[in-house]
Parts: sequence; structure tokens; C-alpha cells
Amino acid sequence: MGLTNSSTGINSIGTDLHITKKHPGDITVALAGNPNVGKSTIFNKLTGMHQHTGNWPGKTVTNAVGTCSSGNCNFIFADIPGTYSLIPHSAEEETARDFICFGEPDAVVIVCDACTLERNLNLVLQTLELQPRSIVCVNLMDEAVKKGISLDLAALSDRLGVPVVPTSARSGRGVNKLLRAIESAVHSNSSALKVKYPDIIENAISIVETAIETRVGTKISPRWLALRLLGNDTSLINSYNSYIKFNITEDADVKSALKKADALLKENKITEERFSDIVVSSIVEIAENICKNVVSYSNPSYNARDRKIDKILTGKYTAFPVMLIMLGIIFWITITGANYPSELLSDLLMGAESYIFTFLSLFKIPPAICNMLSAGVYRTLAWIVSVMLPPMAIFFPLFTLAEDLGLLPRIAFNLDKYFKKCCACGKQALTMCMGFGCNAAGVVGCRIIDSPRERLIAMITNSFVPCNGRFPILIAVITMFFSGSSLYSSLILLAIIVTGILLTFLVSLLLSKTILKGQPSSFTLELPPFRRPQIGSVIVRSLLDRTIFVLGRAVAIATPAGLVIWFLANVSVGGTSILAHIHTFLDPLGRLMGLDGVILLAFILGMPANEIVIPIIIMSYMATGTLTPFDNLIELKNLLISNGWTWITAVSTMLFTLVHWPCTTTLLSVKKETGSFKWTFAAFAIPTVIGFLICFLFASIARLF
Ligand code: GDP
Repeated sequence: MGLTNSSTGINSIGTDLHITKKHPGDITVALAGNPNVGKSTIFNKLTGMHQHTGNWPGKTVTNAVGTCSSGNCNFIFADIPGTYSLIPHSAEEETARDFICFGEPDAVVIVCDACTLERNLNLVLQTLELQPRSIVCVNLMDEAVKKGISLDLAALSDRLGVPVVPTSARSGRGVNKLLRAIESAVHSNSSALKVKYPDIIENAISIVETAIETRVGTKISPRWLALRLLGNDTSLINSYNSYIKFNITEDADVKSALKKADALLKENKITEERFSDIVVSSIVEIAENICKNVVSYSNPSYNARDRKIDKILTGKYTAFPVMLIMLGIIFWITITGANYPSELLSDLLMGAESYIFTFLSLFKIPPAICNMLSAGVYRTLAWIVSVMLPPMAIFFPLFTLAEDLGLLPRIAFNLDKYFKKCCACGKQALTMCMGFGCNAAGVVGCRIIDSPRERLIAMITNSFVPCNGRFPILIAVITMFFSGSSLYSSLILLAIIVTGILLTFLVSLLLSKTILKGQPSSFTLELPPFRRPQIGSVIVRSLLDRTIFVLGRAVAIATPAGLVIWFLANVSVGGTSILAHIHTFLDPLGRLMGLDGVILLAFILGMPANEIVIPIIIMSYMATGTLTPFDNLIELKNLLISNGWTWITAVSTMLFTLVHWPCTTTLLSVKKETGSFKWTFAAFAIPTVIGFLICFLFASIARLF
């Protein structure tokens, strides 16, 4: 059977739950499952798309849609966020639940981890209640084989009453079979297993179920709905009400059925809390029973090696030194490796500028415009590419390798205690790690945090970790002013990052003691097994998905910015350029902070993308109004020193790079996520004020010495 896929781009279907079918015969499929079981890997294999994969729970926070065809069948897949249960505990689990409940997919594929089947069956059993046309996909079969875990999948399929397909998504084994299973499941009647609860609960369910069935025509299983109404699951009831555009609990029949069922439960001393416990334990018991007959272990201590490594990575005395050393090594490789290609690229790109000027002149374009395009726009772009590309092309693959290996949840585990002390959530560490790539992505990633209060804290503090737009500024300044050796430079960079992390703790604490008061919530974070990273695909994907994406964004913003800055620098008012007028005005404030007017202006103009901060500084210092080509950073250092830079200016610039207003994309993400101007303003104002204060304090103290 041939498989063709189309990569029409990832559509986040967000709150709009329906997938539009192109043809009536299309089959819509939801890919559900616990976090980190390989859903996105399967999705990518099937659709040819590049949904982010990574060895940590919580990286998929919105639904993504992709299509694939096999034989005469066209499938539309939705990769939904991982969830442990259909009784959700976080926003992204709600997104998953709502899609399974109200997205009306033709089939649901529940992806399970072959190594932890019992825990995964919890979601399977709940989903079968809702959607009998389900297919269980037991993924990570290769890992199970390596660990000596055998599964009797025929017996599993018998017990569950739905097809069970084994896959090893990384290598693509089994995905074609999965498509065939979906196709036949959609066209046949299923006898999916229904959880049997104790008699009293069953009776109560059936009272409410009958009322729902007769009153409200619905595609959702009335039995499941009855169960959740009895469990007073307000989140599901709200979603259901907006789905049917009617308040179900206001229906007279449903109301009286609920009253009757509640009375029955009360008579038997089943409180709301006990009801939930009984429901959960019934499901767990069935999962346990199934696994007793299905799973066997030839080596019960199969994860002993992982545990030993975890003892070091999460040990009381070893965790922090190991984490810092690993981060230090990543920085060292980035700094050492970036120097040479940076120079090479700079020579190459700057060397091409005169050809561009000559080429443009061929079209009889006036020299002033040729100059603007080549010395203004092109030179800014060349600078950005040569300074940004090499460190990013090294840092991202290294970071992705660490992510694929499974290090991120370990970092979150280590930092959890400290976040708790600050009355924030340990999952914030994961969103912080995402911020290293891009703060806007980090802000969206905060959806993995359940409590709105803790989510806000995580969003507001996300910009305290420098994103890739700011890394090159830090690396350039360190290389110019403090470079004894790469090791020394890496240690300084490490110190800056640690300062950012400490500030995150401090500000989280301040927020939770003032405007965002509250108790920290606890959460379960699964430490995934260590997985050997797929080095080839990690490098390719991190280069294409992250590096080129970020570079593309920088270039898209730098082109008009280069133009605007060229104008500001070349148009004079009263014999002085507009740029000079503005930075003269900002100079007193800049100096107070250990900077100067030019640097402050560069940060203001760099708000759309921090990548353009250094080019603006250079252009402003060059009275010529264009960016002078620099063969190396030493020449640039000389320019900065001749404009009054000292080590104090360098440190203040680094501190302000670390802590100032987030870029516009990040602020727009905060607005979108919170829907509030107040919190967006807080996300802008808090780092800004702290940035000003830190720079002012540092500069004042440093000047004393
Ligand atoms: P999701 O959170 O369920 O979407 O999981 P991902 O698709 O991001 O996969 C989680 C991790 O498991 C990634 O590191 C994948 O490369 C890895 N992975 C996924 N499927 C397989 C598989 O079949 N075998 C192995 N060995 N690793 C897999």
C-alpha cells in the first residue's frame, strides 16, 4: 500500500475543534496518548510534517493537523497534546479532552508506550467509553524488546475489543499497518470494552444516562456524560454546554435524574470525593488485570542503568554541579566553534557588497538608492547572518540533543524544590528551557502549567532567560571585552545565565507574595527513560526548524529596520542626523545605567527583534550613517572603545541584554495567552524596571571602584 503525505503546514486548531474535511470520504483521526509516547513522531511519519518532537512530557500544547493518503483513503490527523486522563488537570489536557469529546473525529488512535502499558491503559479505557471506534497503537516496541518486555498484543486486543497495532515510530515500523487498522475500524462495528463500576455507581449512571439520551441528541456517549455529571466535572460540563449551546443541567429531566442519582449515592454514603475515587480505582484495577495477562518481563531490573544515572543527575549534591557543567560545556562548544565560521561568513558576505552595488548600478538606479540598499539593508543583513548563524547552528543542535536524551525533565525535577519555595510551579523550569530557544515559544509553552496564577508568573518571568536573539549579543560582547580563552568566556556566559535564573526565582517569589498571591500546586512530572538521540535528524531538524526559522525572522525584521535606520542616520535636521538627535536625548538616562544614548536607542529600536541591536549601535557610532564592514571583532572593539566603552559599559550592556522588555512577538504571545492588556503590560514593565534598576545599581557601584 502506497503512502503519500502532504505537508500543508501545521494548522493549530486551538479552540476550534472541528477539522474541515476536503471530501466527504476523508477520515479524521485524533492521535491521543500520554505525553512522550511518540504521538508527534507517528504524526510526522504519517503526514511528512515536522511537528516538534522531544523526550519530555508537555511539549505539544496545541493541536496540529496534517493529511496523508493510502490507497483510496485520505486521512486527516490531529496531533493533540499528551494527557494522562480525560479528567484533565491542565489547559493543554483540556484541549486534548475537548478534541476527543467534541471534535467528532471518525476514529481515535490512542498511542501507548509499550514499556509502561499499564499506566497508559488508564487513558485507553476512558477513551473507549467515549469513542468505540478507537485503535490502540502500542509504540516504542523497539525499546520494549531491548528491555526484555514481551507483550501479548492479540490478548490485549481481545480484552479491549478494539484493534491493537504495534509500532516503532522512529523507524516507521508498523505505521502502514496502523492506517489499515484505522480504515477498517471506521467501517466496522466495535465491541469496545466498557469499564464496569460497582453496582450503585452503575445504577446512578443509568438513571442520568436515560435522561440525557431522551432529552439531548448527542454524538457523545451519554454514559460518559452521565458519569462526569455525577462527578461534578465542571470543566467538561462547561465545554459540553458550549458545544450543544444549551445548559444541560438546566434541562428539567436531567435535573431531576441528577437529583435522584445523587440521593441514591448519598443513601449509600458515596460523597463526591468517594465517587471520584471509586471511578479511578475501578479503571486502575481493570488496567492492572489486563496487564497481568498481557505483559511479561524477562529482566525485571531493566531500568537499573537509568536509575543509576538519575542518582547522579538528580542527586542532592551532584545535581547542580552536573547541570552547570553540562550547560558550561554547551556554551564552550558554542563559543569555540562559532568564532571561525563567523569570520569566514563575514569575509564572504561583506566581500560581496561591492558586487551588489555594481550589480544595482547596472539597472541605472540612482547611486544614493544603491548605497542605501547595499550599505544600509544588505550590510545589516550580512552582519546578522555572520554573527548569528554560527552560534545558533551550534547551540540549537546541542540543546536539541540534550532534549532528545531526556535531560529537560531532570532539570525541572532539580529546580522544582526552588520554584516551590518561591510559591511557583516546578514545570516553570521546562518553560524556561523553551525560552532559551525563543521566549514567545516559552510563553505559549506555559500552557503546561495548570494553575492560572503560576502560569502568569511563568509567562512574566520567561524573558529572564536569553533567547537566541540575545545570545549573539552576549557572545559578541564577551568575546570582545573579556575573552582570555573560550573557557573563560563560557564561564562568564554561564554566570549571566545563572543570574537570569536567580532573577526568575526572585521575581517569581516577589510576584507570589504580592500581586499573584497563592500556594504552590504540586504536579506529577514523569522522568522519561534516557533515549539515544537520533543525531542525524536532530541536527537537520534543529537547523531547519529552529536556526533557519529564527534567522528568517531576524532577516525579515532587519530588512525594513536596516532601511529605517539608514534613513534616520542619513537624514539631518539642523546639521545633525535624526538618529543622533534621538540618542543625544537618551544619553543622560543611558549613562545613569552604565550605557549611553546609542545603546539605549539600539535596544528600543531592537524591540521587534534583538538581533538588530548591535548593527544599530555600530551604525550610530559611525557618523557615516552606514555599518562599516568589520573583518573581526577586534576592529569592532576598537570602535566601541573609541566611543567611550569600558568594561562597565560592557557588563551593563550584557545585564540589560539579559533583563529588559521582551520582544514584540513575546508580548503578543502574552496578550494572546492571557487575553489581558494588564498582564501584557506587567510582562513588559516588570523586566524593564528591573533591568533599569540592576544596570543603575551595577554602574553606580562599579564606578565607586
Ligand atoms: P509525544 O510527546 O507523544 O508527541 O512524543 P514524541 O513524538 O515527541 O516522542 C518522544 C520521544 O520518543 C522522542 O525522543 C522520540 O524520538 C522518541 N520516540 C518516539 N517513537 C519512538 C520509537 O518507536 N522508538 C524509540 N526508540 N523512540 C521513539
